[in-house]
Amino acid sequence: MKNFIFITGGVLSSLGKGLTAGSIGALFEASGYKVSFIKLDPYLNVDPGTMSPYEHGEVFVTNDGLETDLDLGHYERFTNAVLNKDSNVTAGKLYSRLLEKERKGDLLGKTIQIVPHFTNAIKEAVYNVCHESDVTIVEVGGTIGDIEGLPFIEAIRQIGLEKKKNNSVYVHLTYLPYLKMADELKTKPTQHSVKTLLSMGIQPDILICRAEKELSEDIKKKISLFTNVEEQFVISAPDLNNIYSQPLVFAKQNLDKSLINFLNLDSRKSDLTNWTQITNTLATLENHVNIAMVGKYNECKDAYKSIYEALIHAQIPNNIKVNISCIDGEDLTAENVDSVLKSFDGILVPGGFGNRAVEGKILAAGYARRNKIPYFGICLGMQVAAIEFARNVLNLPQANSTEFDVNSIDPVITIIEEQKNITFKGATMRLGKYDCKVDTNSKVFAAYKTDMIDERHRHRYELNPKYIPALEQHGLHISGKNNVDDLTEIIEITDHPFFIACQFHPEFKSKPFAAHPIFVEFIGAAKRLNLI
Ligand code: GLN
Repeated sequence: MKNFIFITGGVLSSLGKGLTAGSIGALFEASGYKVSFIKLDPYLNVDPGTMSPYEHGEVFVTNDGLETDLDLGHYERFTNAVLNKDSNVTAGKLYSRLLEKERKGDLLGKTIQIVPHFTNAIKEAVYNVCHESDVTIVEVGGTIGDIEGLPFIEAIRQIGLEKKKNNSVYVHLTYLPYLKMADELKTKPTQHSVKTLLSMGIQPDILICRAEKELSEDIKKKISLFTNVEEQFVISAPDLNNIYSQPLVFAKQNLDKSLINFLNLDSRKSDLTNWTQITNTLATLENHVNIAMVGKYNECKDAYKSIYEALIHAQIPNNIKVNISCIDGEDLTAENVDSVLKSFDGILVPGGFGNRAVEGKILAAGYARRNKIPYFGICLGMQVAAIEFARNVLNLPQANSTEFDVNSIDPVITIIEEQKNITFKGATMRLGKYDCKVDTNSKVFAAYKTDMIDERHRHRYELNPKYIPALEQHGLHISGKNNVDDLTEIIEITDHPFFIACQFHPEFKSKPFAAHPIFVEFIGAAKRLNLI
């Protein structure tokens, strides 16, 4: 019998449903249960690939190349679950599948309706991911009351009916605003949100209550009375300094035991030692390094979510805190770059698309190269490093990417036609996991300690092989290659304490207990500079 945990959100968006789902997954794994996940997104885009990071945060990429919601990053960071193309569906994707069936005549004679056809498609997507796990955690995007969310709530209600009571648990995440004048957390929005959920046929079993502070026993009592959720199942989720302590905060309130009881699973001994250890380490870091992240979505932390998290993970083995300052590449000029960047121990240029802020990123790469400041370039961050090197070391002032100048006379970064035909199969992006052979005589090999790695990609442009001999001759070493398609994966400057840039996105694979080796070495190099 398969088990399901449904997570819905009320009152406001951005409450941390993904983090809650990931933390619940971690609790089950700590008790020896295997989990799987699915994120149901009620919006109409087929996937978040084309959505602005301003609006929707980072686009996370799975091994098999699905462009997904950033919550999947939380699931992978908090658990050992391996996510794939089935782990995130949107209303747009399900509607387009359904309409394709309708056009093909597979539903001939039928009137296609939201209930049952669309809701059945949602249920199928959920059942599809449950086979190899003990518990499937289903997160429904959006907030209760959203019009587009209705069929999704109806579908999860029906699954509860089909699976009977003991195999499904409804967890509702809600928010209690703190009213300063009254010095009180207010429960009314939560009461309303639960009423709305009830009107759709779902009585939540567990309420997870986000608030600035911890809920008092009185508040829990009041919420329980108005929502029909037993007091022991009203869980307090105050703001945390460190998200990796969330599983412990939940376990302290017996959320793990309650979920196991609801699902009628055997109660097993839970081992959360590793979560306690990292929480303690993160709480006691004394010194810090300052890292400049030169991007273009600097108002929005979520746009670089996995990079932020990977930098936090790298704090642990280095035993040092990382202070991240976001610098908008658009604000950097040849005149101010030295003064803006001079106080940093390391510079990271993340991935990105489009022209805006590119010249500033190129200036940042040049500053790091000349001043021997640790530099870590990710995807576009590698491309700008190569452009900078070509312009200022190879003396090719017009060097550029054809993404920014289609007529560039020195297209150091370009779309490789042959590779496009072989690998892209009609799509335009290189997406998902690819192998990379690492040169054993390189800094990056010292980081990975293996010469065969795989990492996830999301880009169209590549380093133009025509320029490789000149780049190598002048000290820019190609230290990682994809031998199948003959593409450059990693570059580094030999005569530099730490200048590594990669075409892939290492941040997607970093975990709190297995910080990504390049991030670890980058922070290690920044720490060495800081100690000088
Ligand atoms: N815009 C660049 C490309 O498409 C880089 C993409 C990225 O940084 N993810 O190749």
